[in-house]
Amino acid sequence: MSKILFVNGNLHGHFNPTLPVVRELISRGEEVWYFASDKFKEELETVGAHFISTGAEIDKFNQGFAPSGNHPFYTLLEYKVKYDKAMIPVLLEQIKGLVFDILVFDSYFGAGSFLPGILKLTSVCSTTTFAIPKLPLTDDQLLRGCHPQLDEFYRVLEEQCSYWKVPVPDAAQYFLVKGDVTLVYTAREFNPGGASFDNTYAFVGPSISNRVFANEFPWHKLGGDKLIFISMGTINTALADFYKMCIEAFRESGYQIVMSIGNKTEISSLGTIPDNFILSRQVPQLEILKRTALFISHGGLNSINEAIYYGVPCIVLPLANDQYITAAQVAKMKIGIPLAFQEVSAATLKSTTDEIISTSSYQENIQKLRDVFQNAGGYSKAADVIQQTGGTYHGNKK
Ligand code: UDP
Repeated sequence: MSKILFVNGNLHGHFNPTLPVVRELISRGEEVWYFASDKFKEELETVGAHFISTGAEIDKFNQGFAPSGNHPFYTLLEYKVKYDKAMIPVLLEQIKGLVFDILVFDSYFGAGSFLPGILKLTSVCSTTTFAIPKLPLTDDQLLRGCHPQLDEFYRVLEEQCSYWKVPVPDAAQYFLVKGDVTLVYTAREFNPGGASFDNTYAFVGPSISNRVFANEFPWHKLGGDKLIFISMGTINTALADFYKMCIEAFRESGYQIVMSIGNKTEISSLGTIPDNFILSRQVPQLEILKRTALFISHGGLNSINEAIYYGVPCIVLPLANDQYITAAQVAKMKIGIPLAFQEVSAATLKSTTDEIISTSSYQENIQKLRDVFQNAGGYSKAADVIQQTGGTYHGNKK
């Protein structure tokens, strides 16, 4: 039996794929300890993991974080290094006296440039976004001295590396952090530049298993009409105008609509809800996708992975970050159509939906990719990879 430490943060998209892996590892007799925010405590303890809390520090950090500039990519770098600086001491305090065999760190919230060195552990990087072959910047844009916000990032990075006595990575190595093995929860075929990653990358496909769902869903209201599922994920969900536009697009359309609106919009602010709509703050997405003809999504990679896994074509309206990459991949594989969120109208949404539903090639393409995803191994393969990494570690130690 190995003692495995997972390190993650507070986002569902980064957490969800890891839960079935944790459950699988525990069912194989491994001991799992998991550092994450309190909202994941119950799910983790239900599958038998030891929960380690990020405590109030994670919210305190997020509320207090003020970037030193507004360059979108340097802000991601600055956030990441300052997050590491804030959270590493919290983790180390909580695990005092514990000894682990394997570290599984989240690629963004797992302090992966520090913890393997500090804890002297074999590590697995858990990547719930795409594996990125190259940063979206030129080499010159990553040099010290080229931008004050990048300099602020390097200042904190160097300070932290010196404090923890670990080598200083450059900005690209820091952002594209790898473990001894790097797990990616999509298929190599769907990842941009998938073939360019070496065999320390394990593309295991979506990590999907039955989820416990707290809220009741009114299954009895689903009729025989084709189901369109709309969800913009769990983060940027304050989108009342968009939800109203969806209502305008699909009222009396002959489609059954299920729309997840998150916890930042009041249902009462959306006007009269037509009979063919079911609105909910959070829906059991996997169960819904099994019944869905078309998914309208922000393009979060988990959501699109899940849609492909169940063979559902998509309209993607990206809002941020890697959602644009997902949208481009959906277009490239011809499994759906991306639309510009700022420009989309009710009429375009409806006509694009009709086009995808009535064009058989979208169905054919998504079925082929669905087979690839279903054969990629998922959480079980991820658990194999983690256990094998541990095996290598014990072998090296002797
Ligand atoms: N999700 C869900 N029900 C909802 C909305 C989202 O179960 O009503 C889940 C979804 O299945 C996915 C995750 O939340 O696993 C969202 O992750 P994604 O990467 O798609 O988007 P994010 O929320 O990180 O932007």
